Amino acid sequence: MNRGSDHTITDKFNRPLRDLRISVIDRCNFRCTYCMPAEVFGSDYPFLKKQELLSFEEITRVAQSFAKLGVNKIRITGGEPLMRRDLEQLIQNLSCIPGIKDLAMTTNGSLLSKKAKQLKEAGLKRVTISLDSLDNEKFGRINGRGVKVDSVLNGIKAAQEVGLKVKVNMLVKRGVNEHEIIPMARLFQGTGTVLRFIEYMDVGNSNGWTFADVISKEDIINRLEEEMRLVPIEPDHYGEVATRYLNKDSGDEYGFISSISAPFCSSCTRARLSADGKIYTCLFAANGTDLHTPIRSGVSDDELNGIISQTWGNRTDRYSEERTPEKVAERNKQKIEMSYIGG
Ligand code: SAM
Ligand code: SF4
Ligand code: SF4
Repeated sequence: MNRGSDHTITDKFNRPLRDLRISVIDRCNFRCTYCMPAEVFGSDYPFLKKQELLSFEEITRVAQSFAKLGVNKIRITGGEPLMRRDLEQLIQNLSCIPGIKDLAMTTNGSLLSKKAKQLKEAGLKRVTISLDSLDNEKFGRINGRGVKVDSVLNGIKAAQEVGLKVKVNMLVKRGVNEHEIIPMARLFQGTGTVLRFIEYMDVGNSNGWTFADVISKEDIINRLEEEMRLVPIEPDHYGEVATRYLNKDSGDEYGFISSISAPFCSSCTRARLSADGKIYTCLFAANGTDLHTPIRSGVSDDELNGIISQTWGNRTDRYSEERTPEKVAERNKQKIEMSYIGG
């Protein structure tokens, strides 16, 4: 089978490198309370400067290196990736890399209706759009900017119309939006759009996360089963983040990203590239490996591959499997922010 890669590399726990998540910008037009609370990410927040961001050529070069080492899936994220100007040019570059079979993007959807067609034509295959509520007032409070639900629904519609595969991510937080689980499930029933429920995670240092705020996968399933009968189905591929369930009667699929109640580190095949060119081997990492400096100092392709291989080869991350209240407290103030590295 031609995977377009010279060889597959594995980490200290024998996990292969398969996915690359590329954050193209650390800025966002939303201020979701669980990700970029407005009181922390204010006008004086030290966002990356333009010259610190990797250029599209630099990102493409890094992605080529990752593809050589076994990556076959790329996801574009942020911050809000659609705030990076001319993003479709990057999509075009990435879609031409040998071995990349899947090219996806995670977005808040608010800027998507204008861009969907260009992105699809450039080679984007799938989008995951985040939406946590169908109630304008509640959604406006969650996104911290009063953005209305319709702007996201229009983005979803535009993506569907141009033929992009669409999934919707709903982060569920106790006391905030658990009553929206059923309305969201009803809205997407029969549309072919897979709704995925995300457990609220302790990423970053800003959102004041506690275990008590988490609505678990099991809680969500119990709520859904008040309306429908669910059966678990097999993962689509090794290392899939979400566990999948089908509505027995309608055939609708649901996904559950249960990082807190049922972590999946043992099959985690994901590396992350920050907008300023650092590789992180875990969402909960404190430090990354700098590629920006070597790239701008003329590193050769072999040397670049070597830095990436070594970083992955030394990887021992399994934060979610080791999470305890003590560990959460101990790591506080050290972790990178979700808006910096993407979901
Ligand atoms: N701005 C884009 C968006 O919102 O889709 C892409 C970046 S955002 C960081 C990616 C995903 O991370 C979103 O689906 C969001 O719901 C999720 N996310 C953000 N903070 C989270 C948290 N504390 N726990 C779990 N998921 C979170
Ligand atoms: Fe922005 Fe996405 Fe974070 Fe919300 S979750 S603040 S949309 S980066
Ligand atoms: Fe992967 Fe780290 Fe998440 Fe575990 S905690 S699944 S190693 S990103």
